Amino acid sequence: MQTHEFEAIIVGGGGAGLMAALYASRQVKTAVISKLYPTRSHTGTAQGGIGAALGNLDEDHPEWHAFDTVKGGDYLTDQNAALVLAEEAVSAVIELEHLGLPFDRTPDGRISQRRFGGHTSNFGGQPVRRACHAADRTGHMILQTLYQQCIKNNVKFFDEYHVVDVIRVGDQVAGVIAVNLDSGELHIFHSKAVLFATGGWGRVWEITSNAHSLTGDGNSIVYRRGVPMQDMEFFQFHPTGIYRLGILITEGVRGEGGILLNDRGERFMERYAPKIKDLASRDVVSRAIHLEIQAGRGIKGKNYVYLDVTPETVNRYLAEAGETRRVTREDIESKLPDILDFCRTYLGVDPVKEPMPIQPTAHYGMGGIPTDLDGLVVLDEKNTPLSGLYAAGECACVSVHGANRLGTNSLTDLIVFGRRAGKHMAEYCKSAAVTPLPNNPAEEIEAELERIRTANGKTKPYQIRNEMQQIMMKHVSVFRTADGIQEAINVLHHLQDQYHHDLMIDDRGKRFNSDMFEAWELGSLLDLAEVTAVSALARQESRGAHSREDFSKRDDEKWLVHTLAYREADGSIRLAHNKPVDLSLAAKDEKFKPKERVY
Ligand SMILES: Cc1cc2nc3c(=O)[nH]c(=O)nc-3n(C[C@H](O)[C@H](O)[C@H](O)COP(=O)(O)OP(=O)(O)OC[C@H]3O[C@@H](n4cnc5c(N)ncnc54)[C@H](O)[C@@H]3O)c2cc1C
Repeated sequence: MQTHEFEAIIVGGGGAGLMAALYASRQVKTAVISKLYPTRSHTGTAQGGIGAALGNLDEDHPEWHAFDTVKGGDYLTDQNAALVLAEEAVSAVIELEHLGLPFDRTPDGRISQRRFGGHTSNFGGQPVRRACHAADRTGHMILQTLYQQCIKNNVKFFDEYHVVDVIRVGDQVAGVIAVNLDSGELHIFHSKAVLFATGGWGRVWEITSNAHSLTGDGNSIVYRRGVPMQDMEFFQFHPTGIYRLGILITEGVRGEGGILLNDRGERFMERYAPKIKDLASRDVVSRAIHLEIQAGRGIKGKNYVYLDVTPETVNRYLAEAGETRRVTREDIESKLPDILDFCRTYLGVDPVKEPMPIQPTAHYGMGGIPTDLDGLVVLDEKNTPLSGLYAAGECACVSVHGANRLGTNSLTDLIVFGRRAGKHMAEYCKSAAVTPLPNNPAEEIEAELERIRTANGKTKPYQIRNEMQQIMMKHVSVFRTADGIQEAINVLHHLQDQYHHDLMIDDRGKRFNSDMFEAWELGSLLDLAEVTAVSALARQESRGAHSREDFSKRDDEKWLVHTLAYREADGSIRLAHNKPVDLSLAAKDEKFKPKERVY
C-alpha cells in the first residue's frame, strides 16, 4: 500500500477546499484529494452570487449583513460567527477580484451587486443589493479562479481519489485513507493535519438541486470516528427548483424582479411576507408554496406554482410598487443566461415569454461537522478540539447559518472560513509534531470495501436509495410531524439492515467501480438521513427550516440551543442539547435579541 507524506491534507476541491489549500500551501506542503476533478465540484454550479456589504449600489454595512444572517437563521446562528462572516466578506470578495475573478461591473467599473432573499438595509428595512455576481455563473468563476491560483502555488492534486476513512490516533488526527478510482488501490495519506471540505448531502432527498456526488462523505467519515453532527435537523428546501427535476432556479431571478404566482394568478407572497414579499427568506417562501399547493392553488391543482420573470409581469409589478426601473428582454438574457438555457433545454419553456413551473427542492445543510471560528473540529458542547482536524464549507457547521441560510451566504462562508481554516491549519502544521501511523490503519475500511464489492444479497443499492429518498421527501422535508418522522426512522432502520445484510453489487472489478462507490456513498447517506430524522423528532418546536406541524411555534425558552448527535458503539444515535447559541451581539445591542421574524 502506497503511503504519501504531506503536512496538510485537504479533502475536497470545491470553493472551501481550494481556498483553504491556497492559504495552507503558502506555508506548508499541501495536497488536495478530490473524488471529482476539482473544477467539477458543486461550487461550480452556484449561480446567484456571493454576499458582501460592499455598498457599491446601495448604502450597506457589515452590521446589517450580520443582522440579516442572524435573523435569517431564526436566531440559532452563532452571533460571533455571523459578525466574522459579514466583516470578512468584504475583504474576501476584493481578494477574489484581485485573484482574477471576472465579476459583473457597474457602469463606473465597480463590482455589480443584486438583491437576494432576506438581505435588507438598516436592520430589516428594504431589500438591499448585496450579492456580487458574475452573470449567473458566480460559483463557476470562483472555482476556476481558485483552481488556477492553487496550480500556481504548487498545491499537489490527487484527482479522482475517493477518501473513505480518517486516521484518528486518540485525540489526534494523522491522515486519511483513499482509493485511487482508476486502479482501485488503497493509498495512505499521512499528515499533521486534515481538512474536510466535502460539501453537502442533498442526495438524501428525492427532489434536490444537488449533484449526484453530494453524498455527505466527509460528515459520515468523521461521524463514524466519534465526531458529533451538529444541528442536522435543519436542512434547507430552496423554494424554486424546476418542477419534478429539482434543478435550481436561482433566487437571483426574484432579485431581478421575478414574481411567484399561484393558479389564480395571485402574487401569494403578499400574504405571507407583506414587507419584502417574494424576497423573504427561503424557509418562509418554501412554506408558503407548500401551503398554496395544499390549499389546491397549485397550477392546475398540481404540486407546483409559477415563477414569472417575463418583462411584462416584472414591469407591471415594478410600476405597481412605484419604482421607475423597467426591465427588458435583453436585461434578463444578459443577467440570467444559464437559467434561461436550463429552462429552454430541460423544460421547453422560454422564461422571457412564459412562467416557469417550480416547486421547493432540497438544497443545503445548515448543520454538519461542528467547528470553531478557525475551522478546528470540536467534539462537544465545551468546544474541545480534535487536534489536527479541520472542516470548512457546506460539510461544516460554524454555525453561521443557524436554522436557515440566506442566499449568497454559502459562497461567502466558503471563502471567509476556508481562508481562516487554511491559515490556522498552516500555523498548526508549522509547530506540530508528526503523529506516527498506527499499525495497518487501513485494515477496517479495507474489509468494509471488500464486503461491499463482493456483496451477494438480493437488494440493489438503487432500490435502497430510492426508498430512502422517497420517505425523507414525504416525512422529513418542508413540514414535519412526530408520526411522520417516526415512520421515516422505522423505514431507515429497515434500509440500514438491508444495506448491511442483503446488498447486491453487480460489478466485482477494481477499476472505476462506480457500482461499489455508489454503494459506499449510500452508506453515508443512510447515516446522515437517520441523524437528520432523529434530530428532527427530538426538536419539539418550529424554527427556520425545521417546521413541525405539531409544534408550530418557536420556543426560545427550551430550544435556543444547538443539537449534537453522537454515534454510539452499537451504531445508535445519542443526542445532546447542551451546546449554547452564541448571543454575544445581543448582549451589547437590543436589535440582535431573538424576536419574532417578520418579513
Ligand atoms: C445549484 C446550486 C446553486 C447554488 N447557488 C449558490 C449561490 O448562488 N450562492 C451561494 O452562496 N450558494 C449557492 N449554493 C450553495 C453552494 O454552492 C454550496 O454550498 C457550496 O458551493 C459548497 O462548497 P464546498 O466547497 O463546501 O463543497 P463542493 O463545492 O460541493 O465540493 C465538494 C468537494 O469534495 C470532494 N469530495 C466529496 N467527497 C469526497 C470523498 N469521499 N473523497 C474525496 N473527495 C470528496 C468533491 O470531489 C468536491 O471537490 C448553490 C448550490 C447549488 C447546488
